[in-house]
Amino acid sequence: MINQMNPTLRAAQLSGIRVITAMAQEIPDCVLLSIGEPDFDTPEIVRQAAKEALDAGLTHYPPTPGVPAFLEAISEFERKKGYDYAPNEIVATIGATEGLSLVFRGILNPGDEVIVPTPYFGMYRQIIELAGGVMVPLDTAGDDFQITREKLLAAISPKTKGILLNSPNNPTGVCYHQETLEMLKEELEKRKIFVVCDDVYDQLVYTPCKSFAQFRELKDRMIVVQSFSKPYAMTGWRLGYVMADAPIAAELSKLHLYTCTCIPSFIQYAGMQALQYDPAEMVETYRRRRDYVCSRIAGMGLELVKPEGAFYCFPSIQKLGMDSETFGMRLLKEAKVAVVPGKFFDGEGFVRISYCYSDEGLEKGMDRMERFLRSL
Ligand code: PLP
Repeated sequence: MINQMNPTLRAAQLSGIRVITAMAQEIPDCVLLSIGEPDFDTPEIVRQAAKEALDAGLTHYPPTPGVPAFLEAISEFERKKGYDYAPNEIVATIGATEGLSLVFRGILNPGDEVIVPTPYFGMYRQIIELAGGVMVPLDTAGDDFQITREKLLAAISPKTKGILLNSPNNPTGVCYHQETLEMLKEELEKRKIFVVCDDVYDQLVYTPCKSFAQFRELKDRMIVVQSFSKPYAMTGWRLGYVMADAPIAAELSKLHLYTCTCIPSFIQYAGMQALQYDPAEMVETYRRRRDYVCSRIAGMGLELVKPEGAFYCFPSIQKLGMDSETFGMRLLKEAKVAVVPGKFFDGEGFVRISYCYSDEGLEKGMDRMERFLRSL
């Protein structure tokens, strides 16, 4: 019966990050620098809010788009960033992952194209393809991970339904420059193309980085995807939200209903507390780790575009004369350090190093990587 199943689902690959990490976990004393998950615990006030909500009996079905007070709190929170989303323009989701899935299932007809700048967060391709779409890669590796007008125009076709922007970016940590965003605006406002902003790292920035969502005049075609996972160390809570113009949000809310009905109430109450939490201390820690890892990478003679956000760096290994998978496997087996080959992000010639790990882990990982490079 397996042959009767959806061929797109059957062809979908498992995450390369998880495969590498599972291999690393089998190797004693291996240093993991492969996963993009904060090493902090969820803040105490957030955990407390969930417990109190449970004790208050908030265990019944809430409204589909979200608990009204939660949507109100998100609207207020986003207003401080300069965004004007009313509560009825927000849908609470199971992390950004469900948000992205709703968006693409909601906007795509079979064969519609979505432009995705590469390298990109590995799940995008499968989410788009499972929604019936076609992912059109737009290579940024030769342009310091910025989008050029020439490559954008080459990627646009009559079938283009959307473009997916992720800044700060996973895996590069790079933010789009204001000039890049202005160029995108200039081209995209001439066309009826959805702009999906995956802004899950927008609070984890080390220099001010603006999102495409700043262009409020394009609100009719803009969809912003958000998550509690990264800024509040809440990966396991599975909480996020999507914001869009009211008519679009209403359609996405319907899809959310038929996907999972709603998000648990007590999780939404915890999320409300999280919005009150200032992650500045965590951001400072990541900044310090970023500076440390970048200086070690530079000391090893590898080229790197300095990351300005998220908790990844993406050095080039091109001059080593091996592909990213060979490098990743050799580093794992010979030096016991797990990083993710760029190949898994459509970024051949690079590797992703996550620095959301302890100072000791980073030091040990960098020492081992340096020794490995010297041995080549
Ligand atoms: N988008 C990007 C760019 C990510 O890096 C991740 C997780 O790593 C997600 C979305 C998914 O986040 P969530 O945990 O909210 O589903």
